[in-house]
Formats: sequence, C-alpha cells, structure tokens
Amino acid sequence: MREDFLLLNPGPVPLARDVRQAMSEPMVSHRSAEFESVYENAQDGLDYIFERSSLDGTPTTSGGTSLIFNGTATMAMEAAVANLAGEDDEVVAVVNGKFGRRFKRIADRYANVTPVAFDWGQSIDPEAVAEAVTDETKVVTMVHNETSTGLLNPVAEVGEIAADHDAYFVVDGVTSLGGDEFLVDEWNVDVAVTDAQKALAAPPGTSAMYATPRAQEAFDGESAPFYEDLDWHLRKADSHQTPFTSAVPLFRGLALAVGHIEEEGMPERIARHRRQSAAFRSAFTAMGLSLFPERNDASEYSNTLTAVSLPASVRETPTEFFDAVTERGASISGGQAHLGGEIFRVSNMGNLSSEQILRGVRTIGEAFLD
Ligand code: PLP
Repeated sequence: MREDFLLLNPGPVPLARDVRQAMSEPMVSHRSAEFESVYENAQDGLDYIFERSSLDGTPTTSGGTSLIFNGTATMAMEAAVANLAGEDDEVVAVVNGKFGRRFKRIADRYANVTPVAFDWGQSIDPEAVAEAVTDETKVVTMVHNETSTGLLNPVAEVGEIAADHDAYFVVDGVTSLGGDEFLVDEWNVDVAVTDAQKALAAPPGTSAMYATPRAQEAFDGESAPFYEDLDWHLRKADSHQTPFTSAVPLFRGLALAVGHIEEEGMPERIARHRRQSAAFRSAFTAMGLSLFPERNDASEYSNTLTAVSLPASVRETPTEFFDAVTERGASISGGQAHLGGEIFRVSNMGNLSSEQILRGVRTIGEAFLD
C-alpha cells in the first residue's frame, strides 16, 4: 500500500507511524510488568477520553472504569447487554440504522426485546421511545453516531427517558468517542462502548467500555458468555490485565494512539472533527451532490463521517465510481445493506490533516466529475 494512500473509510482509519511501529516491538508476556504498564497507559488514555469528551474540556463524569477487550466493538456491545439483562428482563432497543439493529439482534439472544424502530436515516422520535420504556424496562440501548447513515442521534433525550424509569442506558459511542462530544453524566449513560479502529485511530481488534459505578453494581457476569464476564474483566483491570491472553501488539498500538489524543486534547479534537466534517458537507453540496439524509438542522449530522447520495450519473455503475476513487489514491465506503448503491460514506475520524481532507474532496470530486 502506498504510504500516501488516503483511507477515508469509516474504520479502520489511518494510524500514526509510531502506533504502527509499536506493534512490531519484541513480544512480552501478557502477565509481565511491561505489559501491565502498556495496559495502564491505554486505560489512562481511555479514562481521559470517556471522562473528558466535552467541547469546553469540563469533566463529563468520574469514578467509572475503562475496560479494554480483545475483540471489536460488537463484542463490547454484547458484553454490556449480556451482563445487564437476562431472559426474564426487558430491553428497549432504539433502531434507526445498521448498528442500532445490531444492538437489537444482540439483545434478542439474551432478553425480551421491544424494538423502537425507524427507517434507516430517519430521526429518532423520543416520544416513541417514551411510549415503549416502562418501569419494567431493565436496559435501553442506542447508537450515538449511526455510521450506516451519518446521523447523530438524540442520546440526551433518550437518556432522560431511561433515567425516568431507572433503566440502564447502554450507548454505542463507537464512531463518536474520541472525535465528538460524549457527555456521560448529563446524558444519563451507564455503559458506553467504543472501538479502537475508529476515532481513536488505533489498530482494529480491541474495543473499550466505560462502566459507571451504578452499572458495575448491576453486572451479572455469571449469566454472560464466559469470555465476556465483566465482573472478571473488572477484577483483572484493577491489576492492569485482561482475564485471558491479551492481544499485546494491539494494546501497544492502542496505548500510543490514546496518548496522542490526550496530547491533542479532546476540546481541540472535537472542534477539529467538527470543522472537517463541515468542510466535507460544504464541499460535496457545492459540487451539486445531496447529503444523505438531507437535514435542515446541521446538528443532526455526524461530525465524524459524511454520507452522500450517489448522483444519478454514477448510480447505474457505482462500482466504477468507487474504483475511480481508489485509482486516484483514496478509499471510501458505499452504503450498507439496502443503502448499497444509494450512498457513499466518507470518514474524517482520527488524525486527518486539513491537507488530507482537501485531497479527499479533490479525489472524490474528480472521480465523479471526470
Ligand atoms: N457500532 C458502530 C456505530 C459502528 O460503526 C461499528 C462498525 O462500523 C460497530 C458498532 C461494530 O464494530 P466492529 O465491526 O468493529 O465490531
């Protein structure tokens, strides 16, 4: 792969050189002091991200624990649900895209699920959620930044409903944490999950969870899959280890990547992601393209990825369009499931420079204008 090839897919995202290099260091035991310090550095950086993802830098929460898993975000999502809900419990799953649906599908395996579903790309109506959540509801799941559509969902409103009924609120912050605001206490979030390979700009293969003290008290590891027993993960995290063999090179990459985030500072990182996504939206609309889904209120748009309706000129042969982008030195994603052939998606997650953002615009523009 060319060093300057521009990866604009919504994960995995480009890695800093030292993150890449850290993964080829000599191996150490996952029970060694060396590894414990890698884990501790990664955990400290994650604590910073989970507890300080506000635009003004004020703390968003404190007192919870960041856990790191061998396994991608889907595993962290499953761990959260399976440790909080069992077969006699009620879960409300809010769905308006592929990843909201994933939460529902996971919860279906462990509990009784009431979906509150909207078309992909439709906004979540908190009133419909309020009708579904009752005092019997144990867990409410939702996705903050719906990567399949580019919509930013109303976590604050849904969190208030969950809190009114004392339900545990589990939120997928996979493509927002590390790139956008995420206000744990203000939004009544009990468990937040994220993925290494998205806005954290770390290698794919690990994921992380922030569990508040309230969530930790409710975890029932014995009802969860053996590998996902969160009581056990919490005990081992106290000594900076994982219960089973850690993916040592990936943890090394993660530790450096979250360290870079702390150096940049979350306020600046959030502001940069907002500037960059706004630039993508403006550039694509200036080229005559339509954003997907079209919204009057810019606050509904994701700040970490942009979805664009494929223009009529390339709808007949979308593969040619994607190949033309790749030939020009960049990679973007198409729509998922039934949105395939309808949209393209461009990420600005991670550490992209303004030069890379502008090069992305030019490359994509040339591919469809030529
Ligand atoms: N949630 C969201 C919002 C995502 O964008 C993704 C992946 O794109 C996932 C969950 C699942 O991540 P993974 O495939 O790494 O498990």
